[in-house]
Formats: sequence, structure tokens, C-alpha cells
Amino acid sequence: MCENLRKKAVAVMRLEEFVFNDNVITELSDSMRNNTLPHAIIIDGAKGTGKKTLANIIACYSVCTGNERPCGNCPACLKAQHNSHPDIFIADGTQSGGLSVDVIRNIRSDAYIMPNEAATKVYLLLDCDKMLAPAQNAFLKVLEEPPSNVRFVMTVSSANMLLQTVRSRSRLYSLYPAPPEQAAEYVAKLFPDEDYNNILHTAQLCDGNIGKTIETIQNGGQEASKLADDIFRAVFFGKEYDVLVLTNKLSAGRPFAASVLEFLSENAAECVKAAVGAETSSAIAKECAQSMTKAKILRIAENIDRAKSVLGTNINLNFFGTWLSSVLKV
Ligand SMILES: [Zn+2]
Repeated sequence: MCENLRKKAVAVMRLEEFVFNDNVITELSDSMRNNTLPHAIIIDGAKGTGKKTLANIIACYSVCTGNERPCGNCPACLKAQHNSHPDIFIADGTQSGGLSVDVIRNIRSDAYIMPNEAATKVYLLLDCDKMLAPAQNAFLKVLEEPPSNVRFVMTVSSANMLLQTVRSRSRLYSLYPAPPEQAAEYVAKLFPDEDYNNILHTAQLCDGNIGKTIETIQNGGQEASKLADDIFRAVFFGKEYDVLVLTNKLSAGRPFAASVLEFLSENAAECVKAAVGAETSSAIAKECAQSMTKAKILRIAENIDRAKSVLGTNINLNFFGTWLSSVLKV
């Protein structure tokens, strides 16, 4: 048994429930049905596109003893759900030393030991972005002559982060963000009390990235979206004092302030579109675009983008609101 590897709960989810990326899902479910799923798999895509979820589905499929794998009901699936399946191992690159040469060597020697219960042992190598070349080279040795009852699943933001020699011995599945409408529909099921238009707006801001959309909503997306709209209207129609009072609410916290700026930036981008006569579905953008010259709107948009980088520095949040109100004055 690999002592250095962390065993973790694997949430069962059926492949059919996976949103978007239909070609990847079709290909995977065909391979699962025909028992031709590769022994080494790379899943790449931006943070929030579902790499880990997909890796978990593949892990469950690999140990499931039901008829339609992963069934979610057999003892193996239940063990996987309860963090106790002895044949699912996780090495996480976000943990310090999580994918070090030592950990990979442990995986390598463990891989040649027969599975405990399942027909296949699964090693999930998560967030391989930080897996350095020596560790990848150590891993290559087991990829070159893989034991027959083992499956490796790697997740990485881009397959290009991995050595060509690792890539060429693995099957690559690339995940992309969903169209915002589809992402919103999915997220709305998870947040039934949240206003659908806000979810859709957030999904549009996050370019259909489901993970990011969920995170933004959890960080007070609805409140952030409303405050951004109030600030935006105050900049166009209100008094300087109104803008100052509203921007000072950003001192509530950095993630919240970042969310508000994202919404402000989206409003500004839509407003620029409206100002040049391009199509926009944003009511607030259309409303504001009529009240200012294009040059001023562009300057506001630029200053909002500047504010995003300023927030990224260590600026004191109590001053940030006041500073923002001053640069929104055009
Ligand atoms: Zn099962």
C-alpha cells in the first residue's frame, strides 16, 4: 500500500449527467461500454471545467461491480463514496510535495501489486501543472510498461504542461467551458433559490465556466451584481457622493470586491458595445450608453480594468473604494 498517497472520497456521478463537452462524453461512454477505456488518461481544461469530476467518474467506473458502470449502488461504488475504497488512490499536485518524485516512485512500485478488491486499481494524479520533469520522467517508466490492471488519470490545465513522452503514451480528453445558457441551467439546479437572471448574468461573466460561476455565486454573486449595477448607474446618472458611498461598500472583502469589479467590467464592456451601435442584451448598458459620449464610456471601461489590477496589489480595501470613486469620475 502507498502510505504517501491520500485516499479520498470519490463522488459517484453518472457520465450522462456531465454538462456539455458532448464529444468527449460520447467517446468516453463508448469506450466504457466496449471495455476499451485507455490505461493512461489525461484530462485537460481550465479550472472549473469539470476535470476532477470526470476523473472521479472514471475512477468509480474502474472499480464498480454493477452492470452499468459506474452504477452508484454496488458495494464498490458505496465504498468509493465513503472514502474507503482501497483501490482508488489520489495524489494531489496542489498539496506540497503532492506529486514529488518520491510520491511517483511509490505509485510506481504500488502499481505492480495486485488490486485489493477491484479488477482495476486507479491512480488519480490531480493538478499535474506542478509536476516537475524529474517526477514526470519517473512516472514515464510505469507508463511505458503499464501493469494490465491499473489505470492512471491525470488532470492538468493544459496537456502542454506535460512532457511529450508522457502525452504520447496517454489518451487526451480536453474539456471546454459550456455556452453560458447551458452553464446557467446547470447551476440553477444547484441554487434553486437564486434568481435565474443573476445566475445567467454570472455564467456570462464567467464565459460558461461552471466552476467559476458556482464560486462567484457562493461569494455573494447576487449582491455583487446588484452593487455593480448601482455603482454603474450612479456613475452615469448620480452624484459624486452617491458613487463614493456605494464604492465604499467594497471594503466588505477582497473576493466580494473582485466579484463587483467583474460585474462592473462586464457592464462597461456591454456599454461600449451599445455606444458603438453593436448588439447587446444588457438593459443597463443600453440605458447608460445614451447618456455619455463614447470617449467617456471608454475611459470608464479602462479605469475599471485598471481597478482590477490595483485590487490585485496589496491596496488597503478601505482606501480602494474611495480611489475607485475618484477614477470613475470622467
Ligand atoms: Zn457500482
